Amino acid sequence: MYRAAFRELPLGAVKPRGWLRDQLGLQAEGFTGGLPAVWLDVGESSAWLGGTGEDWERGPYYCDGLIPLAHQLEDERLLSWANRWIEWTLGSQSADGMFGPASNADWWPRMVMLKVLTQHAEATRDPRVGPFLARYFAHQARELPARPLEKWGQARGAENLLAVYWLHDRTHDPSLLELAALIESQTLDWTRWFTEFPNRTRVLEFNHLTHVVNVAMAVKQPALRWLRTGDERYRAAVYEGLANLDRYHGQPQGMFSGDEWLAERAPSQGVELCAVVELMFSLEHLVRMFGDATHADRLERIAYNALPTTITATMTSRQYDQQPNQVLCSVAKRNWTQNKDFSNIFGLEPNFGCCTANLHQGWPKLVSHLWMAAPAGGLVAVAYGPCIVSHQGVTIEEVTDYPFGDEVRFELQMAVPTAFALTLRVPAWCGRAVTHGPRGLIAQAGPGWLVLEHEWRDGDVVELSLPAAVRFEQRDRGAVTVNWGPLLFALRVGEEWRKIGREEPFADWEVHPTTPWNYALSRAHDLTLERRPVGQVPFARETPPLLLRGKGRRVPGWELVDNSAGAVPDSPVRVDTPVEPIELAPYGCARLRVAELPTTD
Ligand SMILES: [Zn+2]
Repeated sequence: MYRAAFRELPLGAVKPRGWLRDQLGLQAEGFTGGLPAVWLDVGESSAWLGGTGEDWERGPYYCDGLIPLAHQLEDERLLSWANRWIEWTLGSQSADGMFGPASNADWWPRMVMLKVLTQHAEATRDPRVGPFLARYFAHQARELPARPLEKWGQARGAENLLAVYWLHDRTHDPSLLELAALIESQTLDWTRWFTEFPNRTRVLEFNHLTHVVNVAMAVKQPALRWLRTGDERYRAAVYEGLANLDRYHGQPQGMFSGDEWLAERAPSQGVELCAVVELMFSLEHLVRMFGDATHADRLERIAYNALPTTITATMTSRQYDQQPNQVLCSVAKRNWTQNKDFSNIFGLEPNFGCCTANLHQGWPKLVSHLWMAAPAGGLVAVAYGPCIVSHQGVTIEEVTDYPFGDEVRFELQMAVPTAFALTLRVPAWCGRAVTHGPRGLIAQAGPGWLVLEHEWRDGDVVELSLPAAVRFEQRDRGAVTVNWGPLLFALRVGEEWRKIGREEPFADWEVHPTTPWNYALSRAHDLTLERRPVGQVPFARETPPLLLRGKGRRVPGWELVDNSAGAVPDSPVRVDTPVEPIELAPYGCARLRVAELPTTD
């Protein structure tokens, strides 16, 4: 068994602060706390609570976010609700080791519940979880040869492996590695698919290998195989897979398209919310296993752009598909490969309910993985955001507005002076990071990791500067995206929210534009950055913490096609329309926007 570069900290070691605390509070008040009363699939009637209702993936999906959220907020109401699901599940195990609703024997939803149980065990040290898992894995080892993984489970075996390795780390039982090999052998051959990459154009028919959520989950699968075997071919497949996905299906918010299958690079194609939270989770584990900072760069790109924009700012309605160039959210036919007409509206369960159950894991698991432990005992700042971390007698308060600011302050507390390495990630967008520490300790480094080996004392402060500047990235047909730090910016479009169904707060909404969107960005004029305080609703449209002001020209003839923004015109665009002021807001705050902009003089 090869050693992962970093270790996860126990759930609860990292707690949110500042704007991140506000965001998790909105989630607790919104979808996670409110859903059970209005959406039966995660309510009292769930078969995962002993009822006669939903007995497949929705209960486990919901718990996968509920458990970390409850512990990170130390919210008594959510903790006691979380406990109901845990107690029912732990009590459901039969003598042969199987668990969960007897009405549904599918392996797949149990893979999700395994992740829930390991998080619960990390947070509470519940001694029942280890033996429970051991009995279930023995059951799997006996049963899988005759009843192999199939359908979704066959695509998603990596989720099962995570829990197998979690237990192996604690018991070192060699039979668990045999089970891991068996699960791998029954999982789709992602290594081959990522390497050969046969699907380079839009996929139009059902195929588990090109289903966007499966792909997002699968990018960690070869990495887990590398961890067991040490075979570099598997590690390489992860990098080749991500590069191929970017090249043929990549979108500017760090995702690849999929509305329902991979759908090429055009900014009017959609990507499903489930794929957003699953790719974040995969990247969290890629960083842990490989220790490569570039995976954390992508994690922040998705977490701070793709995730907030596809859920309302108060976390009470969500999309199925988001579009980088999204100028109208309405019930209408669009150029999706399979999804239905209401896939880009904001609502309780547009198109399909999976995302309503699965979205809960996004923010809490980001918080869990902001920090990790290095093998030698130090702490690693994997991703940035306001939080407090406690580990092995050391507490670090991380004070920052990041990603809305580019300065991070670490305040260290400990009872006795402690020597350890404080490792800080330097994002690739940042040319050079500089730290100022206590006793004249100054260090700097380029992209990767900045390691501060030191004997630290109580009250020490480290100031990290990650100088951000406006950055253009090239897209197809000469279009650009505008970026600042980890944030993607997009042309802001006026939004009129029209309620089309259900009761607030979990209502269904169309969003119609109230201002023109068909602008080309003038490269002859600079963009100026305006900073504002981060509001209590961090990703609200009305109060973006940052704004870029620039100039642009309208592009006559660039109009709606099939109810989405038409193909981005080739740049540079030659038009004689007047130069006008334009505003660009963080993508996460702009639910109508144009993120891929043509350019003009
Ligand atoms: Zn979904």
